[in-house]
Amino acid sequence: MSAHIYKIVELAGSSKTGIDDAVKNAVEGAQSYLSNARWFEVSQIRGQIENGKVAYWQVVLKLGYNSEEERNPVSGSGKAVSAQHAGPKTGSEKNVMSKYRCKVCGYIYDPEKGDPDNGIKPGTAFKDLPSDWTCPECGVNKEQFEMI
Ligand code: FE
Repeated sequence: MSAHIYKIVELAGSSKTGIDDAVKNAVEGAQSYLSNARWFEVSQIRGQIENGKVAYWQVVLKLGYNSEEERNPVSGSGKAVSAQHAGPKTGSEKNVMSKYRCKVCGYIYDPEKGDPDNGIKPGTAFKDLPSDWTCPECGVNKEQFEMI
């Protein structure tokens, strides 16, 4: 059987410069954990306005990835994913309150401050943020954040 079966994930990307760049940020940002992504479809386009000007473009994409490759991961990509997950477990005390940076817009989530505007109390670790929490600046999801 040569038929291809794809799994689909939905993700958001944003950019200060344009839709094209927002798509690239989302697709290229996903490469770190979905190197077997094969196609995308833009399902939503919107923007954020600040002071009467377009501050950010945001796109929501459906990304199709090859589920066969996921089951039999190529050693390189599989390793990258596990290394990423292993990181925060070492030295847990310190890392629980680590800051995280939005890879799209540079916003920094500081657990000591939380995100009170969006109902996140100070002292909330990044991992304890609700899964539907998004970047207060550009609206991308938690997957677009990296620990700093
Ligand atoms: Fe952001």
